[in-house]
Amino acid sequence: MALIVQKFGGTSVKDRGRIFNVARIVMNTRNAGNDVVVVVSAQGDTTDDLIAKAAEITSDPSHREMDMLLATGEQISIALLTMALQELGVSAISLTGWQAGFSTDRSYSKARIKRLDTERVESELARNRVVVVAGFQGLNRSDDITTLGRGGSDTSAVALAAALHADRCQIYTDVEGVYTADPRKIPKATKLKEITFDEMLELASLGAQVLNNRSVELAKKYNVELEVISSINPVPGTIVKEEANVEGMLIKGVAKDNDVAVISIKNVPDVPGMSFKVFSLLAQKNINVDIILQSSGNEAGTKDLSFTVPLGDAEGAASALKAAASRFGGGEISVDKHSAKVSIVGAGMQSHSGVASTMFEALFNQNINIKMISTSEIKISVIIDEQEADKAVAAIHDAFIN
Ligand code: ASP
Ligand code: MG
Repeated sequence: MALIVQKFGGTSVKDRGRIFNVARIVMNTRNAGNDVVVVVSAQGDTTDDLIAKAAEITSDPSHREMDMLLATGEQISIALLTMALQELGVSAISLTGWQAGFSTDRSYSKARIKRLDTERVESELARNRVVVVAGFQGLNRSDDITTLGRGGSDTSAVALAAALHADRCQIYTDVEGVYTADPRKIPKATKLKEITFDEMLELASLGAQVLNNRSVELAKKYNVELEVISSINPVPGTIVKEEANVEGMLIKGVAKDNDVAVISIKNVPDVPGMSFKVFSLLAQKNINVDIILQSSGNEAGTKDLSFTVPLGDAEGAASALKAAASRFGGGEISVDKHSAKVSIVGAGMQSHSGVASTMFEALFNQNINIKMISTSEIKISVIIDEQEADKAVAAIHDAFIN
């Protein structure tokens, strides 16, 4: 008998029909002779709706009360799914995050799991029950409710799979797996059979939106193999694991991220410590910088510095820099909010040459100008004009995958 953790996202439990659909998947897994722990998200758009409700009351809700509010979404799902399982004759019990033993640190709305005490879950399994656990939530040291950040139910599922030494961790969602590009935009995108944790981490942070980033980090840390699979269509999904079969594929995916602003400082003094002063200022404001480009100095003793930040941080970053410009010697600060980042990801590029030039050729053939380039062992990203991003993804995808 195997122990299987199955996680179902919000769209998979959005209404009565979908809840019974999930209940039948769980029942079949159970009837095949497995122990089953289920983790669910809030139904459909519930979390967004709750956030909107809070906004009707205040523009600055207390973080503690926000978590108190958001955690209710998952609690609805566990009760309804458990009722549906019982209706089908399956012995089941629902548990909140804290009943299931999730202890977190103090940081409301993005809490990290500190400890997972699986005693209660194990005792319910021993009583032959399916255990339905609320994702996304835990309890901090003061016994206050915390949530794990958007998409945090994935993390709850992986943590349970790791702590229970589950034989499988299945992440059921409304897509059939991980694709080489967004299948809604690129009709030729193909579903991957396998992908490595590292590739998945790059794709998740690039906005592939199939798995929450922290959940993949956790899966990598504890080596929990994940199966991303559709709750609607019973077809094989994508396996995420430490080492994936490259299947002759150099590139696993092409991703686009529109959440990018480029900040430039022109004619900043070419002196030691300038970069330190600029970026420590941004670090103090908790602004994450991604790609950095610095020109070499010119005869006038200045140089140009450009870097990318998330769109939402662009104004904050620019005004912080303007306010403190005297600290790093000044320069002309400008913000470009109409750029996008297009990236290719693949562990295969480590052992192959010419990958970058193939990507750049695809862009050149479309007459697309590259503003910035950044590379890592398994990723190449370019910053281009936002309006050309879809065309760029299609061209690059064609060059590598079809
Ligand atoms: N309901 C939460 C959210 O929407 C957690 C999750 O779905 O994983 O972010
Ligand atoms: Mg999700």
